[in-house]
Amino acid sequence: MDSLTLPSMKNDMNPSHLDVAAFAKAQARLEGDTPLLQFERLSEDCLGELTGNVTWAAQGATQPTVSGKDEVWLHLEAHAQVPLTCQRCLTPVPVALEITQDFRFVADEETAMAEDDESDEDLLVMTDALDLMALIEDELLMALPLVPMHQACLSEQAPTSEEEKSILAEAKPNPFAVLASLKTGKH
Ligand SMILES: [Zn+2]
Repeated sequence: MDSLTLPSMKNDMNPSHLDVAAFAKAQARLEGDTPLLQFERLSEDCLGELTGNVTWAAQGATQPTVSGKDEVWLHLEAHAQVPLTCQRCLTPVPVALEITQDFRFVADEETAMAEDDESDEDLLVMTDALDLMALIEDELLMALPLVPMHQACLSEQAPTSEEEKSILAEAKPNPFAVLASLKTGKH
C-alpha cells in the first residue's frame, strides 16, 4: 500500500491534479524526489547531462478567518542542484536552487490582483486540479541566477569590456545578502 495515500482521498493526492481545498482541509503532505529531466522548461536552461533530482515537499493547511470561511494555504519547499552555463568560461557550473514559498488560494483572479501587494505569500486562484509539478518548476525557474558563474571566474577575472563590466556588476552579491550572512556569522 502506498503510504502517501489515504484510501478516502486517493483522487485528491495526485500531484499533477491536486484538489487544493481538500488537500489543505486534510492538512495533507506530499513529498518526493523527481528527476530533473522531467522538468522540461528547467532542463532547457541547463548544460550537459541532467542526472539529479528535485527534492520537494508540499504541506496543506487551513486558517480560520473572521468571516468564518477557512483560508486555504499551501507551503512549498524544493531544492535541486542544476548545471548552468558559467557566463565567463562557458563550462557547467553547479548551482543550488532553494525554494520556500507560501501560497494562499483565493476565489478568483480579481481577488488575487487586489490583495497581492499587501501579502507576503503568493496568491493563486483556487483550483481542484493544481499541477504541483508545474508550480514547483515555476518557482525553480524564478530562483535561477541571472548570471551564473564559478566563484573563481567571478573573482579572478577583471572586466575587460563595458559588456563584461555590466555582467560582473549584476553578478555581485546583493548588499542585503552580505549583511544577512554577516549577522548569522557565516563568513
Ligand atoms: Zn567559469
